[in-house]
Amino acid sequence: MSNTSPNSPRALYLNGEWKNPGTALEVTNPSTGEVIGSVSTVDRAGTRQAIADAEAAWAGWKNLTGKDRGAYLNAIADGIEKRADEIGRTISLENGKPLPQGKGEVGMTVDHFRWFAEEARRTYGRVIPHQMDGKRHLAIRQSVGVVGAIAPWNFPLVLAVRKVAPALAAGCPVLLKPASATPLSSVLLAEAVHEAGLPKGVFQLLVGNAREIGAELMENPACRKITFTGSTEIGRELIRQSADQVKKLSMELGGHAPLIVFNDANLESAVEGALITKFRNGGQSCIASNRIYVQRGIYDAFLESFVEKASAMKVGDGLEEGVDIGPLINEAAVDTALSHIDAAIQSGARLVCGGKRPEGRGSSFLEATVLADVAEDTLCMKEETFAPVAPVAVFDDEDEVIRRANDTEYGLAAYVFTENLNRAWRVAEALEAGTVGVNDSVPSTSQCPFGGMKQSGLGRELGTEGLDAFLETKHISFGQIG
Ligand code: NAP
Repeated sequence: MSNTSPNSPRALYLNGEWKNPGTALEVTNPSTGEVIGSVSTVDRAGTRQAIADAEAAWAGWKNLTGKDRGAYLNAIADGIEKRADEIGRTISLENGKPLPQGKGEVGMTVDHFRWFAEEARRTYGRVIPHQMDGKRHLAIRQSVGVVGAIAPWNFPLVLAVRKVAPALAAGCPVLLKPASATPLSSVLLAEAVHEAGLPKGVFQLLVGNAREIGAELMENPACRKITFTGSTEIGRELIRQSADQVKKLSMELGGHAPLIVFNDANLESAVEGALITKFRNGGQSCIASNRIYVQRGIYDAFLESFVEKASAMKVGDGLEEGVDIGPLINEAAVDTALSHIDAAIQSGARLVCGGKRPEGRGSSFLEATVLADVAEDTLCMKEETFAPVAPVAVFDDEDEVIRRANDTEYGLAAYVFTENLNRAWRVAEALEAGTVGVNDSVPSTSQCPFGGMKQSGLGRELGTEGLDAFLETKHISFGQIG
């Protein structure tokens, strides 16, 4: 079933066929720097052809019933489930994350496909009461058309599928452009799509130069919608490019999540929550807690337990048994994190653990790092560090911490730890974030909306909202009934 022989570049999936249109892009394992595979690439002309083929496939795909499209989605989920170990290992190899996290990503991917397989049958419209005799009004929801989906490297499979699954469920052909660092798991996704027997042109895989592919997706009027997950900086660029055609956009951008621990929190669960939200995926998560605010009465106890557990975390190759933190995506990412740590120390923070590359490991690794007494104007309190670096700061009262937590251009996620129900409601409502975890460090799930306020994005993925993003609403008015 593999789309090429082991040593040649993996082929791209274009219009129902495996093709090798361009030069190969090498993929390296960030743990070792070794080349672990390569994938063929497309250029701008190839992207244009893929859009034309997707457009030709649109009518057939959108005219299937939701139930039939759902059956295809379930077949893709079956194919992924069958190869879960291999796909989890591929994610771990190309991204560096610990193998259990790679496998967890596959499990979530399957769940997303199954959720949207069901949602495909629920693209309900409305019958709207008339106000003039003889008229009748309907609102129906129809697929938006060809979708360009651009995905990042940090959760290479599941974040791609948050776009691909609802687009397909809604009746849209989709062109997936994975990150250049992590295209191999998307090749395996394409294999599952192929095996599920989707009509040609309905799903295609585009790997290659992001600017070339991106420019064609943005400028070609046949591509009706762009759904992007990545940095706020590139998101802004795409928003600017979209203006000429008023291209429909969904944007999942950067985050800078605060995690707030009140005096009345359950200490153990707050520490556990901070460890998970900060160090999962080596801190390379858009919803990672980047600013940990702890109330004065519990500050010392929290710090002691948090540092003890953080410094015991095992840093190493994602495929090694018992590793908690893998490498960062590359050496430059560690350099950036070290510069944030240095800036924090310069402005008075205390380095309580980590703060350097671990001995005996390559240059892409960084120890779990905790900084205490971090001042609000420190660089790491303002910018996403995207690394296993936890800045901890003290606060005194609720209004003050809400103001500090909201004092950012980002608004993706926030976490609150408290045993006081009234406080939990108040703070959750006051925080400017698309997701608030109350005593919950893993809030994302297939059936709930996910996305950012402020400069963290536009629109929502997952939940019923995740399907809305690929549907247009049409009002149909009947006159002269009666
Ligand atoms: P990135 O550099 O913005 O890249 C994301 C994707 O965009 C990649 O596929 C990249 O391709 C592509 N791209 C880059 N320049 C482009 C252009 N000019 N036109 C079209 N596509 C372009 O982000 P990243 O470093 O991969 O991901 C980390 C960022 O994503 C962080 O800021 C993180 O917070 C954010 N993120 C947000 C969410 C969310 O749900 N809100 C989730 C995860 C990550 P190449 O790889 O080929 O350059």
